[in-house]
Amino acid sequence: MSEKIKVIKKIFAANEKIAEENAAVLEENQVFTVNIMGSPGSGKTSLIENTTLNLKDKLKIAVIEGDIQGSLDAERLNRLNVEVVQINTGGACHLNSSMIQSALSSLNLKTIDLLFIENVGNLVCPAEFLLGERLRIMTLSLTEGEDKPQKYPLMFTKCEALVLNKMDLAPFLSVNPEIIKKEAQKINPKLEIFPVSCTRGDGIKEFSEWLKKKISTL
Ligand code: MG
Ligand code: ZN
Repeated sequence: MSEKIKVIKKIFAANEKIAEENAAVLEENQVFTVNIMGSPGSGKTSLIENTTLNLKDKLKIAVIEGDIQGSLDAERLNRLNVEVVQINTGGACHLNSSMIQSALSSLNLKTIDLLFIENVGNLVCPAEFLLGERLRIMTLSLTEGEDKPQKYPLMFTKCEALVLNKMDLAPFLSVNPEIIKKEAQKINPKLEIFPVSCTRGDGIKEFSEWLKKKISTL
């Protein structure tokens, strides 16, 4: 085994160990945690906003917001009166489990039912880093094109649901959502797919209901 591969294996093993610790803490406190991944601009923050508006009367929601820098998304979510913790990765292109571990220590977990983690906008390596979450969801915008499942299969494999956003733009694009769905399910036959428009709110109710059912299994 090359030195480089050894180092990478060690990084993943260390990450997984802390992810397991996070999962135990979250379970102990009955917090259902959702890791949301996807490219920049695919609608991660918008999905959290829309879903929060739908569920916040029934569930106590908090958000861990991951960004390379700045707090624009955290400020957006703060307006919804949910607790938001900002993580700035300072250049790193994904969140890891030790960043989540320190973010968890600043939340009052006992009072939280649903915790969203918005990962750094990136379709590649966030899929490789477990955080201790119960559920992994990816957003993909129709504007990203039909080829993403074939080009970035790992993300589609690791997620339980795909939220296909910006469906309202379909009439203006030469992108066929059916092809994206077909290719995505070829890679991951169990993948749940929710076509939505976060700007119009279409499909959010269906997604929220599905999520609520998942949470009830905790
Ligand atoms: Mg965002
Ligand atoms: Zn990365």
